[in-house]
Amino acid sequence: MSAAPDSSRRALLFGRRAAVAPLRPPWALDENDFIDACTTCDACVQKCPERVLVRGAGGYPVFDPGLGECTFCGECESACEPRALDRTRRDDAWSLRAVAGDACLPRHGVVCSSCRDACPERAIAFPLTTRVPLPAIDTAHCTGCGACVGVCPVDAISLAARATEAA
Ligand code: SF4
Ligand code: SF4
Ligand code: SF4
Repeated sequence: MSAAPDSSRRALLFGRRAAVAPLRPPWALDENDFIDACTTCDACVQKCPERVLVRGAGGYPVFDPGLGECTFCGECESACEPRALDRTRRDDAWSLRAVAGDACLPRHGVVCSSCRDACPERAIAFPLTTRVPLPAIDTAHCTGCGACVGVCPVDAISLAARATEAA
């Protein structure tokens, strides 16, 4: 009975989520549990020293890699009193990794390696197998930090859940 407000709140958000899943802050619970636990208090958004968290649909926090890199400092998780972000309930911060899409300049014959230079994990290589080398992202080392996203001059990089490409 008392589940009605939560259900309608979720339905509102999930309708939008079907198109583009929001990137939650690191150590967020699974989406349903996250929406139930988060009070939209903004503590994580305000604590983030990198300013990469913003209020998204419904006031729920979203990671915007276009604003910069998540350093996994943990300030957001520590600030979350209702424990919608909880490192004790996850093996890793998230399952995100970077993907370079069709807009990537080398795919169109234009030399570019800005993403490689920005990556703190050295997870992006440019193998000399084509006339204009293409980025190859090592998903085993990519942490999904987003440092490469904002530096790409054509917005070719997005972050996607690792699970979607399992096997
Ligand atoms: S871990 Fe640190 S840098 Fe990353 S979103 Fe949280 S507060 Fe911001
Ligand atoms: S910065 Fe963007 S355009 Fe340049 S190589 Fe990387 S993904 Fe491609
Ligand atoms: S998301 Fe971070 S770790 Fe992954 S390729 Fe981009 S800069 Fe490197």
